[in-house]
Amino acid sequence: MKSLLIAECRQGRLADGWAELAGFAGVTGSEASMLLVGHPDELPRFDGPLYFADIRDFGEYNPELHRNLVLEAIGAVHPDLVVFQHTSYGWDLAPRVAAALKTAQVSSVSGIDDGGFVTACCNGKMRRTVRPSTHRVVLTIQPGAFAPVTGGGEPELRPVSASADPAIRYLGTRPPAMEGIDLTRAPVVVSAGRGVGNRENVGLVRELAAALGGEVGASRPVVDAGWLEYGRQVGSTGQEVSPELYIACGISGAVQHLAGMKGSGFVLAVNTDRDAPIGEVADLLVVADLVEFLPLLTARFKA
Ligand SMILES: Cc1cc2nc3c(=O)[nH]c(=O)nc-3n(C[C@H](O)[C@H](O)[C@H](O)COP(=O)(O)OP(=O)(O)OC[C@H]3O[C@@H](n4cnc5c(N)ncnc54)[C@H](O)[C@@H]3O)c2cc1C
Repeated sequence: MKSLLIAECRQGRLADGWAELAGFAGVTGSEASMLLVGHPDELPRFDGPLYFADIRDFGEYNPELHRNLVLEAIGAVHPDLVVFQHTSYGWDLAPRVAAALKTAQVSSVSGIDDGGFVTACCNGKMRRTVRPSTHRVVLTIQPGAFAPVTGGGEPELRPVSASADPAIRYLGTRPPAMEGIDLTRAPVVVSAGRGVGNRENVGLVRELAAALGGEVGASRPVVDAGWLEYGRQVGSTGQEVSPELYIACGISGAVQHLAGMKGSGFVLAVNTDRDAPIGEVADLLVVADLVEFLPLLTARFKA
């Protein structure tokens, strides 16, 4: 099986998700090639053929031009799998490529199960395994779902080119307004998950964060319930944080949440379920009811 991995540049820099694409290729056991529209002086440490187009000629993004570059590389590689990251680049480009190839597209893949692609459904509450009926498949993979793999040497560069008469012109990227909360710089983030149970118990998380001089974060259900504002959501559709200390309170550890906190230093999780997936990434899992445990911890730090 062959795969073509689509790396990307974001705001002028090589996005580090390329190594997760390489990790995905390792999990599927496929013979991998990569495509990058990027800077020649910032190449991924990928052991394999790298189809390369210079960003100065093709821009950081243009839907038609970049689609045509991907199709050119597909013509050279003949991959079974065309794999994007589940980012705004992948969201926009993957369906365009799939439509041009008249092939199946599976979004937001978080695992492989017996040859099928695992994706979330029911707003992330359940998982399903998808087996496309077309031989070739275009995929996007969830950030954080596949362990990054970096190679040792230089990639083998293969120039790729394409033309288009684009109806759309890419002008640049503007980050969204932060609503006054910037979790990305906080040294300590204490996050509330659905396990807090109700709005009042979010106060326990606030008190611990205050005692530690940190910020309050949240998983998506807490934001969806209106217990905390969206600006505090951590995860693939929230903020990406990298504090020295991350405390996950009543958070199960869904891949979409992990994507936002995987760069944290020390991770402490408080959960009643000793088998919660957050335990796999936590340095310390305290199996306890947070309603009992958080006030004890807060009191220790206040003392
Ligand atoms: C496209 C997409 C994007 C998403 N983006 C994000 C995102 O950016 N961020 C995000 O967080 N999620 C996101 N999600 C949702 C994600 O899939 C999960 O549903 C969500 O992260 C689960 O949140 P949770 O861990 O708080 O809740 P749950 O998964 O319900 O976990 C609650 C945990 O609390 C524990 N618990 C219960 N009671 C207690 C107690 N008294 N004391 C201690 N522990 C207790 C339980 O054992 C459980 O482990 C996204 C989903 C999709 C499909």
